[in-house]
Amino acid sequence: MYKIAVAGTGYVGLVAGVCFAEMGHQVTCVDINQAKVELMKSGVSPIYEAGLQDLMVKNYESGNLKYTTDYQTAYKEADAIFIGVGTPEQPDGSANLSYIATVARQIAESVEKDCLVVVKSTVPVGTNDKVEQFIQDFLVNDVRVEVASNPEFLAQGSAVHDTLHAERVIIGTESKWAEELLQAIYKPFNLPIVSVNRRSAEMIKYASNDFLALKISYMNDIANLCELVGADIQDVAKGMSFDERIGSKFLNAGIGFGGSCFPKDTKALDYLAKQNGYELKTVQAAIDVNKEQKTMLYKKASRRFITFNGLKVAVLGLTFKPGTDDLREAASLENVPLLLEQGANIYAFDPVGAENFAKVHPEGPHGRGNITYVSTVEKAIKDANACFIFTEWGEVKAVTPSMYKELMRTPLVYDGRNIYSVSEMQQAQVEYHSIGRKAVERQNAKESNGRELQSARY
Ligand code: NAD
Repeated sequence: MYKIAVAGTGYVGLVAGVCFAEMGHQVTCVDINQAKVELMKSGVSPIYEAGLQDLMVKNYESGNLKYTTDYQTAYKEADAIFIGVGTPEQPDGSANLSYIATVARQIAESVEKDCLVVVKSTVPVGTNDKVEQFIQDFLVNDVRVEVASNPEFLAQGSAVHDTLHAERVIIGTESKWAEELLQAIYKPFNLPIVSVNRRSAEMIKYASNDFLALKISYMNDIANLCELVGADIQDVAKGMSFDERIGSKFLNAGIGFGGSCFPKDTKALDYLAKQNGYELKTVQAAIDVNKEQKTMLYKKASRRFITFNGLKVAVLGLTFKPGTDDLREAASLENVPLLLEQGANIYAFDPVGAENFAKVHPEGPHGRGNITYVSTVEKAIKDANACFIFTEWGEVKAVTPSMYKELMRTPLVYDGRNIYSVSEMQQAQVEYHSIGRKAVERQNAKESNGRELQSARY
């Protein structure tokens, strides 16, 4: 078993550290955020991920797992140091490598024995070469330090499962020593390992993420056309999915991709291509389609209403997907400000993301609008004039079509996740607009109209 240090305790670093400990390695998780370290020591996970907190407690108690801000002690004796710090997007689309550089420098100044530095963060092709050079430049002691690439493919919401049961582990190395050490570290996981050179490993990460982003944008593009020509995107996706060359996953049309990876990784690869004098037209298209898609429902609703001013608008789901409290690049972050600007009284529900969202949009008035956070879907939709679904949480999927009809002032739903069947919404007399499918227009116009006039005054 090996002594492992992990730099950064975000979704990637913490989950990797916990899973290495679970496999029997001696792991020290390092973060610069003291409050986060204290929280983890007290047995509380700073992020929401199924199963994570239990494994943290178990391995902390067994002594396999430690948390610290003292990077020197953690790095000086490690056999391998995994880097899992952020590589956020910069205004020009390129990846910000300053956090990686800081860790590289800290490693160079701390290591006292031969060690392998493993970059888990998503970094542009060629970065590992630079990290190795950077460490050599600043190295204080006469020890061997090599850099390997080991990109991460976990999905937020199932991060622990994805790590323990990864479909593949990619290791990118430039020496037999590095390759064998990484293989030995991963041996207890008993997973398929693909061993390539460093630059190919870096590229596999971007190529994989951007391919998935492309698949999503392609389906969204087709969905928008389906609406115009009277086809149904879910039937179309089903028909496509039987073709093994296409596959059945990532064929759901919706309100666009978000999260901490697809948006920034598409832009970073596009940037890298441009830097190398190449135009990556497919990825560029995926970015453009996604940008439009994010506010697709708002645009539909804006055509339906004269104004949102004074209307009660339910927002169901704030996170970029279910199973996480992460809001990065979530559709809600684009749509809620637009609705608030138009004077909507928003009642937002999210089972775990509301607290984070309230840090950006605190409860209360915002310009002409107002936002209130509620603890149940029912409170959000009660007497609402319109409802937007941005995240397909179980709690949201549990709402039956008839509940919208019964509870809302105007049963009008804009569904960014295609949760409901069009015919069920029609039967329940709910006006229903989703993505790539026939809209259920307002029924019983007389009653509905009367209610709308009332609600406009409300
Ligand atoms: P994150 O922002 O959640 O966490 C980064 C952590 O690093 C923070 O806790 C921060 O305090 C810490 N940190 C910053 N500087 C540090 C330093 N010098 N020493 C120690 N800790 C330091 O990031 P994340 O979402 O885990 O992503 C990390 C990387 O992994 C990114 O490159 C990302 O693209 C990639 N990735 C993310 C996911 C995902 O689903 N989130 C999946 C695959 C790959």
